[in-house]
Amino acid sequence: MPRTLNNFSENLIIITAPSGAGKTTLIKNILKYAQENEEKIFLSISHTTRKPRKGEINGKDYLFVDEETFNKNIQGNKYIEYAIVHENLYGTPQEFIDSKIQSGYKVLLEIDWQGALNVMQKYPLAKSIFISPPSIEELKDRLVKRGLDSEEVINKRVAGAALEMEKSSKFQYEITNISLDIATKNLLNIIFRENNG
Ligand code: 5GP
Repeated sequence: MPRTLNNFSENLIIITAPSGAGKTTLIKNILKYAQENEEKIFLSISHTTRKPRKGEINGKDYLFVDEETFNKNIQGNKYIEYAIVHENLYGTPQEFIDSKIQSGYKVLLEIDWQGALNVMQKYPLAKSIFISPPSIEELKDRLVKRGLDSEEVINKRVAGAALEMEKSSKFQYEITNISLDIATKNLLNIIFRENNG
């Protein structure tokens, strides 16, 4: 049977978390582990209409596209899923993921809960992981310390986070990021050591 996204979709791993839950550091840890242990894994690079933040690199953090391009891609069925998050469009490119899965890679999708639910429906074998911050107060504290967003944006994100956290029960796994070390170990265990397929 050819290796298609459907029959190998347990190699698709969805990670969702409110911003400030520590997801970026956790994913960095996963990729570092994979490199050191020669595990085949790729982080999907999404398209977004959001403007790049300071230090973000086009093609590495995201593919930053304009709305016209994004809409053309929607028409052309180029996205596995797409969603509006904090007033910007974000989409997961289909072709990239298909080709990586077909070459035997695991693919990490770092997407919001709306996108996650859509991918779960399309690919029921995909693993889904929700990362929670220890508390909403802690989350706000992390976003302020990170210093990347304005106060207005931070307040919006914190308000949205409480809603997002209600969706955690829809995920196969939930990890509360109290200790980075423990959360990393739990994630590694789900991604590399558990075989559901
Ligand atoms: P940020 O703008 O802070 O990088 O990301 C904002 C939110 O968009 C995060 O929750 C992130 O997981 C989500 N996101 C990033 N890429 C995608 C995507 O391709 N699809 C969906 N649905 N959400 C995404």
